[in-house]
This record gives sequence, structure tokens and C-alpha cells, in this order.
Amino acid sequence: MVMIYCRSIHHSGKGEVCGPCEELIDYASKRLERCPKQNDKSSCRICEIHCYAPQRKEEIRAVMRYVGPRMIFYHPITAIRHLIDELR
Ligand SMILES: [Zn+2]
Repeated sequence: MVMIYCRSIHHSGKGEVCGPCEELIDYASKRLERCPKQNDKSSCRICEIHCYAPQRKEEIRAVMRYVGPRMIFYHPITAIRHLIDELR
């Protein structure tokens, strides 16, 4: 997700991310590792956002807001599955 965002907004090359975005990915994956609800993947929106620090939360939100609707074009199956999960 961050990679798509970075490529469109920060104009980084294919398969590359800029420094701040790399940091964000790093932060997000570390958070996910420590997430207490890791085995209870009902909705990553509900879960993830609540364990992020406020500033990071805003960054992640900006990414989600940008990439969310575009996921349909990049990863149709992932996006649709995600939507179905959210509706449960
Ligand atoms: Zn970037």
C-alpha cells in the first residue's frame, strides 16, 4: 500500500520507496508483529489504527485514504476480499 502511495505522491521509482515511507513501512510491520489481535484478523482498520501512535496514525490514514479506492485497480482480489471482511 505504502509503495503505491509513494510511487504516486513522491514519484519514487518502481519497487522503490523514499526514506520517510520506508520508515513508515518499518513502523507498521513492527506494530503488526506486536499486535495483540494478530490472530483475530476481523478487520485491520479497527485493529491496526488503534495501536499506532497518533502521528503515525495520521500518516497511515493518509496512505489508506489515497490507496484505498485505488486498490481496486492494483489488486482487485485483495481489495474485494478486504471489503467483504469489513462488511462482516
Ligand atoms: Zn514516499
